[in-house]
Amino acid sequence: MASGKINVSVENIFPLIKKFLYSDHEIFLRELISNATDATTKLKHLSNIGEFKGEYGNPIIEIKIDEAGKKIHVIDQGLGMTADEVEKYINQVAFSGAEEFLDKYKDAAKDAGIIGHFGLGFYSAFMVASKVEIITKSFKDEPAAHWICDGSPEFTLEASDKTDRGTEIILHIADDSTEFLDEHRIQALLDKYNKFMPIPIKFGTKEETIKIGEGDDAKEEKVEVDNIVNNPNPAWTKQPSELSDADYQGFYRELYPMQFEKPLFHIHLNVDYPFNLTGILYFPKLSNDLQLQKDKIQLYQNQVYVTDNVEGIVPEFLIMLKGVIDSPDIPLNVSRSYLQADGNVKKIANYITKKVAEKLKALFVDNREDFEKKWNDIKVVLEYGMLSEPKFYEKAGDFFLYPTVDDTYFTLEELKAKITENQTDKDGKLVVLYAQNKQAQHAYIDAAKAKGYEVLLLDSPIIAHLIQKLESEQEKMQFVRVDSDSIENLIKKGSSIISALSDEDQTKLKTVLEEIVPTSTYTVQLEAMDANAMPFMITQPEFMRRMKEMSAVGGNMFGMGNMPDMYNLVVNTNNELANQILHSDDKVKQEAMVKQALDLARLSQNLLKGEELTAFVKRSFELMN
Ligand code: ADP
Ligand code: MG
Repeated sequence: MASGKINVSVENIFPLIKKFLYSDHEIFLRELISNATDATTKLKHLSNIGEFKGEYGNPIIEIKIDEAGKKIHVIDQGLGMTADEVEKYINQVAFSGAEEFLDKYKDAAKDAGIIGHFGLGFYSAFMVASKVEIITKSFKDEPAAHWICDGSPEFTLEASDKTDRGTEIILHIADDSTEFLDEHRIQALLDKYNKFMPIPIKFGTKEETIKIGEGDDAKEEKVEVDNIVNNPNPAWTKQPSELSDADYQGFYRELYPMQFEKPLFHIHLNVDYPFNLTGILYFPKLSNDLQLQKDKIQLYQNQVYVTDNVEGIVPEFLIMLKGVIDSPDIPLNVSRSYLQADGNVKKIANYITKKVAEKLKALFVDNREDFEKKWNDIKVVLEYGMLSEPKFYEKAGDFFLYPTVDDTYFTLEELKAKITENQTDKDGKLVVLYAQNKQAQHAYIDAAKAKGYEVLLLDSPIIAHLIQKLESEQEKMQFVRVDSDSIENLIKKGSSIISALSDEDQTKLKTVLEEIVPTSTYTVQLEAMDANAMPFMITQPEFMRRMKEMSAVGGNMFGMGNMPDMYNLVVNTNNELANQILHSDDKVKQEAMVKQALDLARLSQNLLKGEELTAFVKRSFELMN
């Protein structure tokens, strides 16, 4: 048996890179501009510490397209390289890097989708170019160098007559990548990746109107000026104290030029220990159906755009926010699952949660009225946060609001104080009444209000889950929807009304009703109410309804997907109708009365539909004759 090692020879780097990085080959421009930026920043640093004695000036980076010559030029005025440095930084690194690249690729294959964040740097140029030239002049007093390579390990390196400091990279665009010779394509790439890079980037020129002279002699003239495509000093790199509300709004517009809705408020992030992170997050106005958002939070590393997939970095409940996060401490060339386990990343998510909670509290304390106005637009995010982040739940008590059907907003503590007198059950547990729909539950809201109860309006899609959580956290509290059967039984007040029917009659009535009403769906309950209250009423137990809602929103986690609908039929024994049904001698008439009353009760709960509704209407007309 023979054994050995397969030798990966780096014969031709460029088809290799092309093959493996194909899906993301547009990042070459970002990489080259990043290198040009680094070269310029390094020069500035050398100038600051006195190692570079020449004029730093106002260096820019220029991108040029030569469509006829099929070339892209990336030109900087940074520190440049000597021939030795080209040898060291470009040749050695690049060619040894190719094998390393193959090693990396082995892991990447297990976790598809991570290609693009290898930090391949300079040689990502070979994804789009068949030949690359570097013409570079170091800030040191040494001759310029000219390097040419077609992607094979053969390269040439010779002297060049370039006299001005800096580096020019020339990409000879490959036949299958000519899309990058299109001005619009490059403009779009610059917008996506380089919009906020720290060194000005010139891409062509543009016409600008300037004013010459003063007063009456003033003339307007059109001039050609550099077209600078980036904002080197974006708002998030500044201190919050330097920025006005208008600046924050302006930056939002810069980020999302197509977004016309103004954000509700912003949160400026700024931390340098134990990790580095800056950024600005915006709370957008959310429409009810949590639209598929296309404007997402953008992730930057030192002002270079990386991705708008911030999953794992931003807590899940804040994924609908917009804005930017910039951190050099987020490991990018690793898989997403690794990211979730990374300690730094977890800390970042916690920090963001904490900042958001602090901001919400400040907004609430500083201007409660305004906060209440925004409540409808932010509540879903906060509800989701309370459900998914224990740390956020702890803090949310300070600012989470409970609105009533009449638009009064209570904090939990305020609500408790308000209802503690009037709304308790026999064990002293607070009974919080709520409605989910003012229209549909109108009659029940009115009845509860008439008794002096506070009724909340909790209408978010995930409210059932939140209520469930609140009840488990708050011992002495239970939530009951206004049309649940339990209200009357729960909140017993003063002397209860005495039934007009004797116990014997009540048993008789119940038997009659249960013979006619489908008892698999309706549980008959007799109750002594005001004689003028409705004779028949349908209620649904809070528990049943809530469980159904919970499994409808958020998956069938309780295995209750096919739970049958169960209702209570509450019959008011003090209403005259109860008396009539009980004493009717005509069996047919008795049955008709019960059925009609049941249908009316169903109708008022919107439970009568289709064929049954048609039959009901028909029967009602017949009754009139
Ligand atoms: P990285 O940027 O991660 O160091 P790259 O492959 O992008 O890796 O670049 C390799 C090296 O080549 C850089 O570290 C730098 O020393 C040198 N280099 C690349 N582009 C330039 C440039 N425009 N000016 C000066 N040096 C450069
Ligand atoms: Mg680089």
